Amino acid sequence: MQLTITNLNKTYANGVQALKDVNLTIEQGMFGLLGPNGAGKSSLMRTISTLQEPDTGEISLGDINVLTQKEEVRKVLGYLPQEFGVYPKIDAETLLDHLAVLKGITNRKERKEVVETLLQKTNLWQARKKNLGGYSGGMKQRFGIAQALLANPKLIIVDEPTAGLDPAERNRFLNLLSELGENTIVILSTHIVDDVKELCKDMAIINRGQVMYKGSPDDAINEIGGKVWKKRITKAELEDYKSNFNVISDRMVAGEPVIHILADSQPDGGFASIEPNLEDVYFSKILAA
Ligand code: ADP
Repeated sequence: MQLTITNLNKTYANGVQALKDVNLTIEQGMFGLLGPNGAGKSSLMRTISTLQEPDTGEISLGDINVLTQKEEVRKVLGYLPQEFGVYPKIDAETLLDHLAVLKGITNRKERKEVVETLLQKTNLWQARKKNLGGYSGGMKQRFGIAQALLANPKLIIVDEPTAGLDPAERNRFLNLLSELGENTIVILSTHIVDDVKELCKDMAIINRGQVMYKGSPDDAINEIGGKVWKKRITKAELEDYKSNFNVISDRMVAGEPVIHILADSQPDGGFASIEPNLEDVYFSKILAA
């Protein structure tokens, strides 16, 4: 199964063009959709999830026309929104069981099995009797995945899932996602470069509604190999460097800015060539928008 997005455009009533001629083909496995806040990620995810309409364009999921066969999409879609609201006074097992009924798993024995399997898979079995209000951020996200998996989805969309998780919770969550990726399309929408670097063999970078890159993280890194240069400068020099060079990032290291520049050859003697990473790719593509 393949998700194909063709010439997708969306302008909101306030005039913001959130999607500009987006074209993407997404295969099974983990796909990273990377972009800064406001890039258009949620607009794209909501459109694929049948929650909003584009102005023009087409989306197909295998044989399903996503924009016209919404019910068909919903049957095979697991969607985990940014903020997964839960009922705080109900325990995980009861809520999952209830959601399973709503999904049409009416046979009690079958439902018990499905609920148990999902609670174990998401590592919530020990906490199944605990009220969701007492869950940590990571546990809530894992519960979100459990409910998204109820329908045995072919397409799973997770929107900014690791925001607010501590490192251990984030790891647990990402491992869970990567297990799902093998025979499902999993789209991980995020502004966190590391989430994509660790898990996705295919990705897109979007900014201002436009696809700036589509391909593997490794290819993207190779593309800028030998072209990223690093220099430690003073704070007073920063603005000058920004206006004279293609500065893709600057960050403070021990109180002084260290800048990365994208250039075909060494900009001046003070620059050292560095092995680029996905963050360098990300910043260089974002700046190009
Ligand atoms: P992201 O998920 O990457 O942060 P969004 O898709 O939420 O990006 O937003 C893309 C742009 O569209 C932003 O400029 C945002 O302010 C705008 N936008 C999003 N939703 C709406 C809406 N319902 N009405 C008007 N503008 C919106």
